[in-house]
Amino acid sequence: MNPEEFKKTHLVHSYVRSHKTDDGTKTIWKCNHPLCQHTVIVPNRNRSILIGKMTLCPECEKTQFILTSKDLDRKRPLCPVCRNPKITEETKTVVNDALKGIFGEGNK
Ligand SMILES: [Zn+2]
Ligand SMILES: [Zn+2]
Repeated sequence: MNPEEFKKTHLVHSYVRSHKTDDGTKTIWKCNHPLCQHTVIVPNRNRSILIGKMTLCPECEKTQFILTSKDLDRKRPLCPVCRNPKITEETKTVVNDALKGIFGEGNK
């Protein structure tokens, strides 16, 4: 794939934490994609540079989500599905039904 073509298809970076700078005050985050050279230097005291950015899950490489400060505590921020592999569509429905049973549906 030529670089131009790659840029067109690679719209969202897949951020993973790499290493700290020598003085330890900043952390390098890089894109997990093998062809992408993108890196971001994030000051440890102010990570707002990455918070709120769209990222592609490095696990399933399908789901895009917005990075929060909690995600930045992880080495590889994963999408909600990969973070909780046990939560399938089926269990979600079961949970929703259970909640409806507890709280009722609307005013009766
Ligand atoms: Zn990238
Ligand atoms: Zn995922």
